[in-house]
Amino acid sequence: MPEKTSVEARLGVDKWDLDRQSHIRIADQELCRKCVKKPCLIVCPAKVYRWENNAITVNYAACLELRACYVACHEYGNGAIEWDYPNGAKGIVFRYG
Ligand code: SF4
Repeated sequence: MPEKTSVEARLGVDKWDLDRQSHIRIADQELCRKCVKKPCLIVCPAKVYRWENNAITVNYAACLELRACYVACHEYGNGAIEWDYPNGAKGIVFRYG
């Protein structure tokens, strides 16, 4: 049976061509403060979202472009995430996994 590779190890071999502008935006932090479940903190395997100083922060540079955060936010949160793909061919360049 082949040896299992951890998610962290798989992500470690991916490569990014970083856009200067974030492709993820929080429309209104007040929506996040009132968001009970905050699913964005749970669904993203790259931990793009953090809850710091009573606000959501977004580390778009780590985004894997799964868009799970957008779906979770709009289905189970308060719909604050605005999300689009990075400009041109910028963003994640998958190598493995
Ligand atoms: S799920 Fe959406 S509304 Fe809720 S905290 Fe996260 S970004 Fe804000």
